[in-house]
Amino acid sequence: MLFKNIVGQSETKAYFSKIVREAKVPHAILLTGGEGYGKLPLALGLATLLQCTDRQDDRACGECSSCRKAIQNIHPDIHYAFPVIKLDKKVRAETTSKDFLKQWRTFIANNAVGNISDWLAHLGATDKQANINVAECNYISKNLGLKTYEGGFKVQIIWYADLLGKEGNRLLKLIEEPTPDTIIILICHNRNALLNTLLSRCQIVSVPPLEDEDIHAFIKENFGLSPQDQKELAFLSSGNIRKASVLGQQSELNYSEELLNWLRISYKSDPEDIKQFIDFMSKQGRQYIVNFLEYGLHFFREYLLGINISQLEPLRLTQAEKSVVKKMSKIIDQSKTMDIEQLFSISMVEINRNLSTKILLMHMTMKINNILRSEVNNFVAQ
Ligand SMILES: [Zn+2]
Repeated sequence: MLFKNIVGQSETKAYFSKIVREAKVPHAILLTGGEGYGKLPLALGLATLLQCTDRQDDRACGECSSCRKAIQNIHPDIHYAFPVIKLDKKVRAETTSKDFLKQWRTFIANNAVGNISDWLAHLGATDKQANINVAECNYISKNLGLKTYEGGFKVQIIWYADLLGKEGNRLLKLIEEPTPDTIIILICHNRNALLNTLLSRCQIVSVPPLEDEDIHAFIKENFGLSPQDQKELAFLSSGNIRKASVLGQQSELNYSEELLNWLRISYKSDPEDIKQFIDFMSKQGRQYIVNFLEYGLHFFREYLLGINISQLEPLRLTQAEKSVVKKMSKIIDQSKTMDIEQLFSISMVEINRNLSTKILLMHMTMKINNILRSEVNNFVAQ
């Protein structure tokens, strides 16, 4: 990946160019920041720059043999570790990233800003949970101990280092006593998920949200939207380019109607409707439900802001969502919204602990019913 093909993030790119020029690249870098800020593209860009044999003005030339391999993600001295699932023919404990390299290459070539749900969808495994296991960490240690193929840097990219858990300890020695010219780039959303021992040994680079204007330019180039929609979408994306892509293709916009529908079903509490709803959600897969709940949390937070400031204009919601907000505001007051928001917040933690999605949705439906029916309210199932 070349820096010029990465949207925005000019400061981080300039910083990477500087440390490469001054030969001050630390052995371990942790790229941290929210989803869709472009951490993986930046890591790929840095790896390409490091490998380029004909750097020009701090930039990778894009044409030397190293650049060409790096751009195609087939450079033998750029290694990838990422969360995986069990391979059909293997037991999970023995499955590592190298079993999924082919799929990984097509994934990052098409959607380097994708998140773990996109990755699972790419593998056709939306109902599974991926992780980084012991075998992976052992493999990384062993692999980085070997000589380079092309005599330059050895770069190891670890995507979703959040999922290393205590296995991260296995990488400590590697980071403390690195083999020469080894650069490890860890990527994580939430640095608190990493062991302190690991964190303290990395140079932390916080990747900020993209600027609205960078996102705007990206939307303008990629989607045939009206200038007004482009502006709205850029604003709505909150610096998350993945979100801009998804919204640009409009696939997330139905969530708000679905959410309203769920509130209606929960209020009416008809067992047949509830069953139908939960069956439908379960069929979409675990990751869909996680996304839906995440969306719900975002929605209710914006909704609360809207209630508090009594105007919808500044909210990061689409026109369609704003119309759902208007319908909702007649039936749910602030305190109920806060209760529902809290319920979504707790449920997000529970679903990440691998609780059965059916049980969770059933529990939430009953809770929402309690919240909506507490005291007098005017909720009318329409
Ligand atoms: Zn080059």
